[in-house]
Amino acid sequence: MTKALLVVDYTNDFVALDGKLTCGEPGIALERYITSLTEQFLNEGHFVVFPVDVHDEDDPYHPETKQFPPHNIRGTSGRNLYGALHTLYDARKKEIHWMDKTRFSAFAGTDLDILLRARGITELHLVGVCTDICILHTSVDAYNRGYNIVVHEQGVASFNPAGHEWALGHFEQTLGATIIR
Ligand code: ZN
Repeated sequence: MTKALLVVDYTNDFVALDGKLTCGEPGIALERYITSLTEQFLNEGHFVVFPVDVHDEDDPYHPETKQFPPHNIRGTSGRNLYGALHTLYDARKKEIHWMDKTRFSAFAGTDLDILLRARGITELHLVGVCTDICILHTSVDAYNRGYNIVVHEQGVASFNPAGHEWALGHFEQTLGATIIR
């Protein structure tokens, strides 16, 4: 089983208390777990991908423009990784595959599937935010493409506690994911 780690949207706008679309404390609480898991995957030589939302302000063609306040705008500090993960990325960016994404799913409009298949990866480990939005949509696409899914409960959070709980159940019961608790 060849595995990869996806660290989804762990940026200032989604995590910091003053972020534009923040998960707040539940997101901040993931900092240590996500950073050490990323280090572990890197040290073991696994493929590590950081799929990160990118938007242009007031983009009239983007569906999220009408739904959410502007967030992860290209070139802003809101798009920087949060806390210790930012420091780790600075130190080891050559080993980490940064991936701009424009939709909830890391597979939508990206070459993620091609990169994973080229490396023979069959198991995807997921951490980041939000459990019930970008982690959920990425997991559904991973399921449809035949990947085994592993979600780390201590590595995911949402601004919506009910959505978070529902999504964890959905991963396990409907997508056949392994939940690491
Ligand atoms: Zn977005």
